[in-house]
Amino acid sequence: MSCPGLSERRACRALTQPDCVAVVGASDRNPFAQRLVRNMAQLGFPGKLLFVNPQRERVFDTLCYPDLDSLPHVPDCVAISVPAASVIDVVGAGLRIGVRAFVVNSAGFAEAGLRGVTLQEELAKQCQASGASLIGPNCLGLVNVRAGVATFGAPLPLSLAPGPVGVVSQSGSSLVALMNAQRDVGFSTVVSSGNEAVCTTEDAIEHLLADPDTRIIVAFIETLRRPLRFVDLAQRARAAGKPIIALKVGASQRGAEAAFSHTASLTGEARVHAAVFRAAGVVQVFDLDELVETVELFGHTHGWPKSTGSALLGISGGELALAADIATSVGLELPDLAPTTVDMLREVLHAPRSFAPANPLDIGAAYRADAPLDVACARCVAALADDPSIDIVAVAQDAQRSLNPEQVPLYRQIADGAVSGAAQTAKPVVMFTNVSAGLHDDVVRGVRAAGMPLLQGARPALQAISHLGWYGSEAAASERSTAAYRADPSRFRQAVGGLAPGRSVLGEIEAKQVLSAYGIPVTREAFADNPLVAVEAARSIGFPVVLKLVSPDIVHKSDVDGVRLSLKSDAEVEVAYLEILAAVARHRPSARVAGVLVAEQVAPGIELIVGVKQDRQFGPVVLVGLGGVLVEVLDQVAVGVLPLSAHDARGMLGAFAGSAVLGGARGRPAADLDAVVDVLTRVGELALDSAGVLGELDLNPLIVGEAGAGCTVVDARLVFTDR
Ligand code: ADP
Ligand code: MG
Repeated sequence: MSCPGLSERRACRALTQPDCVAVVGASDRNPFAQRLVRNMAQLGFPGKLLFVNPQRERVFDTLCYPDLDSLPHVPDCVAISVPAASVIDVVGAGLRIGVRAFVVNSAGFAEAGLRGVTLQEELAKQCQASGASLIGPNCLGLVNVRAGVATFGAPLPLSLAPGPVGVVSQSGSSLVALMNAQRDVGFSTVVSSGNEAVCTTEDAIEHLLADPDTRIIVAFIETLRRPLRFVDLAQRARAAGKPIIALKVGASQRGAEAAFSHTASLTGEARVHAAVFRAAGVVQVFDLDELVETVELFGHTHGWPKSTGSALLGISGGELALAADIATSVGLELPDLAPTTVDMLREVLHAPRSFAPANPLDIGAAYRADAPLDVACARCVAALADDPSIDIVAVAQDAQRSLNPEQVPLYRQIADGAVSGAAQTAKPVVMFTNVSAGLHDDVVRGVRAAGMPLLQGARPALQAISHLGWYGSEAAASERSTAAYRADPSRFRQAVGGLAPGRSVLGEIEAKQVLSAYGIPVTREAFADNPLVAVEAARSIGFPVVLKLVSPDIVHKSDVDGVRLSLKSDAEVEVAYLEILAAVARHRPSARVAGVLVAEQVAPGIELIVGVKQDRQFGPVVLVGLGGVLVEVLDQVAVGVLPLSAHDARGMLGAFAGSAVLGGARGRPAADLDAVVDVLTRVGELALDSAGVLGELDLNPLIVGEAGAGCTVVDARLVFTDR
């Protein structure tokens, strides 16, 4: 489906817009063939369908051919549902007569053990050698709604309409679930990609990116087979203003195992995927409900909001309080209303001065019966949308399918009011129900007719709204450096210089020298191999100082009691030197001791760990978390992918466990975030320059002072791959 060369382009067209499709394995008893025929009829496929089965003369009331060679003309696409062992022969026969596109429904390939893996590899080689495209094996196939094509083996929803949503899914069933969610957004092209022997998720995304019928791309991912290409496509999608909404499974051990046995795919590390998605502007959702609501919302939104700043409005104080709780937990901001907005709301609600309109806005509490409720609601929506801090207005209104008819008129007034209010603003106005219990047609009729987003269930709805705000704010962020840093391997080589040639690890002193060459602030320090030199060093650095063991055999100096802090005099330095030597001799008698490091004592601050690790799929990634030993245990760090812009780095600083301390907690002043952002971006540059050479880098800790006071690396370690 990818379209770099002409033959691939032809293959891509043959898959998505074939004039003639041959079905191999066609029989009235083959469910794939049966459904394909029904689906094609349902969508009004304008082309020709041919059937191949050596055991039949007629199927589906039409003539059936014994093999591909006997067909009256060469089909554009061959859909195959025969036992796995015969698929290679069928594809071979197709290639010989000039077919360039295949959809293979048959299972029994990589998902089914070693023999299947070999079969799948053969299949891939066969197609690649001739520039042919193939979806599957072990897939449901493809639907192009507008073109009336459905080489697809599961029943389609009867109301399937053309629309802006393109989907690629490694799970056929999730794809069917999304289509059957019966929302008011239609689909362009959907692909169940199965084992992805040839056509990968990335290929499908590339196609959807170029497809003028597709405005929103949805990807259900078990594994990314071409992760770096995915990143590139995601960046292109962002530049083109086409959101990608991704659901990635396999975050848990069990989930990863289940995904592996499903389509034989390794899932990769969840945190890294989250970082990749965030950095490339991909909206990440975590379950199908969240996906469905997000698709509904994005599908009905024209013009993105500038931020997640949202106003909630409803007629139930209790439900609004609940919605506010959920909104906060999913990252939606509910800003305070401007004084002019408050005045305006009081006026349109005819509310007494004692009533203080707020966000969320409970119009039930304020409403006086001298104006129709829908009019009041509309005016409130418009007033909220006028507030400078509000970019999205969300109206919470229940509309359960089985409502007592007596309740309908009241609820309908709110829904209709939302619609009239929405007409007075360019900002997105959304209606959502607090509970997923279907929709009462009479309540939502006006909302549907207006094409307004209509979401179900407070949590998934508010998650969707939060995604919309995030996506919009990312699109608006001018801070994001699109002119990314370009790798310069010579800069890293120079920074390492003649340090420790042939060694695979740089300890504290040398690692800090490399950091320093990248402009990262480190402690002033000197090496000493006897107490007198240590004292001299301390004097020239200035008291107080710290003394730390230098030994090639010891990674964690504190483990052997090899760190002495707050040394304020010559005498204290001398004693500390001797104590450190004694401590090592006691804890690790076999360790070689080179001497000690005398370093300036950095003023207390927040200790962070910053690091670079190699990810199996995406290469080097930058990590940040709270420093200290627990970080390894808690495994709760934020991850950033390269190139790392200041915008990305700032995002990371809000995304690790305990990151709130940076903002100032328990009366502490806020930390110097700008200084940390600067360190992170420089570490990102180092990681790019050292690709293939750097194994791992640890800055632990980086001590961060209060705003304006900067930050300093007090300990570091660098591990090479092979030099
Ligand atoms: P380890 O090898 O045990 O990780 P570190 O150099 O990280 O040794 O020191 C352990 C702890 O001592 C740090 O987490 C930090 O709290 C403190 N520390 C080390 N060096 C300094 C310094 N120069 N200024 C202030 N505190 C320091
Ligand atoms: Mg340390």
